[in-house]
Amino acid sequence: MKISYSKQYIDNDDISAVVDVLKSNFLTNGPKINEFEKNISDYCDVPYACVVSSATAALHLSCLALDIGYGDIVWTSANSFVASANCVLYCNATIDFVDIDEKTFNICPIKLEEKLLEYKKLGKKLPKAVIVVHFAGLSCDMKAIRKIANQYGFFIIEDASHAFGGEYNGKKIGCCDFSDIAIFSFHPVKMITTGEGGVILTKNNKIADKAILLRSHGIVRSQEIEDINGGWYYEQQLLGYNFRMTDLQAALGISQLKKLDLFVKKRNELAKNYHQLLSGTDIKYQLIKNNYFSSYHLFVVQIENRDKIYEYLKKHGIYTQIHYIPIYKQPYYQRFNLENNFTNTDNYYKKTLSLPLYYELNYEEQINIINLILKFRN
Ligand SMILES: *Cc1c(COP(=O)(O)O)cnc(C)c1O
Repeated sequence: MKISYSKQYIDNDDISAVVDVLKSNFLTNGPKINEFEKNISDYCDVPYACVVSSATAALHLSCLALDIGYGDIVWTSANSFVASANCVLYCNATIDFVDIDEKTFNICPIKLEEKLLEYKKLGKKLPKAVIVVHFAGLSCDMKAIRKIANQYGFFIIEDASHAFGGEYNGKKIGCCDFSDIAIFSFHPVKMITTGEGGVILTKNNKIADKAILLRSHGIVRSQEIEDINGGWYYEQQLLGYNFRMTDLQAALGISQLKKLDLFVKKRNELAKNYHQLLSGTDIKYQLIKNNYFSSYHLFVVQIENRDKIYEYLKKHGIYTQIHYIPIYKQPYYQRFNLENNFTNTDNYYKKTLSLPLYYELNYEEQINIINLILKFRN
């Protein structure tokens, strides 16, 4: 038996949706792209959605759409996947991190404000944007962060790679009520999948237009310029990329999105089971306050002897995972000589373990996993 920390769920509807596209005229740049974008923007109640080839591409284009470039500073959560920070480096801007809250594992608004205040006092340059990460599917404290952003004048990008289907303040994450941009990932381990894929969401039409332009070489085609110059004419106006999603992927996404609420519901039920199975032990898990509804991309525990438990479970066919090795600890990031005073993130990292959580996991398997952990500790 092998149980992994996460995996996709693909049914026959998903398969026939992709096959239908294979039999159609458009494999890319076709009608499924607009349909998927419309469905996501309806789901999140946000006016603009721009699907791209990955969440990494979505983060990269988000930074470019906000004109982040050389000389600019961007901060993100110390506890995230490297893509949350790499996107800033792609734009030749400077990256730095903010420590997490020890109970929610999300960027800590108090630490953020302290760091801003300190930088201001020292006359250091302040960030142009802060990329918040809704870790494991739980929203950051967006009201507090919005308030700080208004005071210090930075943009907010939500790296909501984990959080499609999650809610905050009674609304779906991705609505952008408290941010400039939100992005989701459609990697197979995430909430729904397109194989590879991501989306940029915004209420701002200028940001949306720029993202759409940049995802396809910076090339503009319009009726207006064709009428003047000929039907064959196009103009490259920006240095863009090929970050397009294919219609095969969009069709899979459309079909998967229909099951998102079901996936989220099941993951919440499984999380509840874990809570119950862990009650009375000293094993801690993420605090979910009122007004927050997690999509439960991950079920993360804080546990002593983490490395040994990881190996023990692996020997029994249970493949847990560590989310994350703090980005500032990565060899590549050593060149930036960051201050490295992220105490909560360091403490969190030592004890963190992501237990299996996916749509087809069942209660018996959960009992087995927790029993193994408790047996190891006795
Ligand atoms: C998965 C993930 C990404 C990158 O997503 P891709 O679609 O694989 O590019 C970025 N940020 C976070 C927090 C992620 O978990």
